Amino acid sequence: MKSNPLRRLLFCGLTALVAVFPAFDQALAKEVPPPPPFGPWLENLKADAVRRGVSAETLNRALGRIKPIPRVIELDRRQPEFTLTLSSYFKKAISTKRIEQGKVLLKRHAGLLSKVEAKFGVQPRFLVAFWGLESNFGTYTGTFSVAGALVTLAHDRRRAKFFREQLLSVLELMDKGHIPVDVKGSWAGAMGNHQFIPTTYKGYAVDFDSDGKRDLWGSLPDIFASAANYLSRSGWQGDKTWGREVRIPAGFDIGLTGMSVRKRLIEWNKLGVRQTNGKPLPNADIGASLMVPAGYKGPAFLVYKNYRTILVWNRSHLYALAVGHLADRLVGKGPLKTPPPVADVPLSRADIRALQTLLNSRGLDTGAPDGVMGPKTRAAVRAFQKTTGLPPDGYATKELIMILRETP
Ligand code: CA
Repeated sequence: MKSNPLRRLLFCGLTALVAVFPAFDQALAKEVPPPPPFGPWLENLKADAVRRGVSAETLNRALGRIKPIPRVIELDRRQPEFTLTLSSYFKKAISTKRIEQGKVLLKRHAGLLSKVEAKFGVQPRFLVAFWGLESNFGTYTGTFSVAGALVTLAHDRRRAKFFREQLLSVLELMDKGHIPVDVKGSWAGAMGNHQFIPTTYKGYAVDFDSDGKRDLWGSLPDIFASAANYLSRSGWQGDKTWGREVRIPAGFDIGLTGMSVRKRLIEWNKLGVRQTNGKPLPNADIGASLMVPAGYKGPAFLVYKNYRTILVWNRSHLYALAVGHLADRLVGKGPLKTPPPVADVPLSRADIRALQTLLNSRGLDTGAPDGVMGPKTRAAVRAFQKTTGLPPDGYATKELIMILRETP
């Protein structure tokens, strides 16, 4: 990670964005009504908190002088102009420095990490990889007042319901003494070494050092155990890995790529998919999907059940691949055998909107054009590629938009 704090913030913000908002794409397309008058709104919120058992004293300390933070609204409205390519994402997320730091930390905390693994069944390399991506190993956990940020976003109308729940949850945690009322976090209220949003904190954080607090800042036992508990309860399989880079044979049916196709390793073997060293895939009863995140010319990955669990944590495929690959690098595996194509020009939001409009006009439904590459748009890209005899990898490029424009 670059040391420049602005770049760091932008990068953290981008990864957090997809993690936090389930309805992000839809929310972008809607008009936002003005927020209600702040004073009465706050009183109503406090009454809700009291009904949940939060004490008047906690409410006074947490919300006594609270005001909406304009900068939070600004960050919430910001729409990154360009999408990230696999190559630019990996460059930032998996720097040599981060790999080296991660290796040192994996060794330093080996004893604690293996205790956590014994209890929750999540391998140490993954816990350290999440840690690196979420907060650069605890060195960047956010600078916004969490109460202030969540009040701002709950008062604003864009995702009021979601953030009201986050705010009420954080007030409960403050009331029980797990976190201080002046706690700092991301502009969207994500907290601690693994950037948990309050409902995740409330549901999954663990007091692993038994001091009565679930401390995701100062207690490494709590930090690792909480991440492991969340993963474990989201379906993590501790005896399996996340997936692997593979080699696909010439003439392979690219239509078999994507998360909707799932086959056993033995079936992928029959189709000619191999380990990157050319050897057959392990003869294990594992279901896997084949991913080509940078298109059919880039690296190919078979991804397992744990990859889907990483997507529960953060639904971005680039994030999930980065966690898996960083975890591999921490235990000495090498860089990608097929590096992602660096020449790929990232698409702008305007490009994606144009792409969506072109696809819609051909009856390939992408929903209302919102400039965000989601599963529906990828499926429509695949469908178009199939009808024109292009390898259907669902990967959109400038070239593809040109072809769409020129194809009758
Ligand atoms: Ca504790």
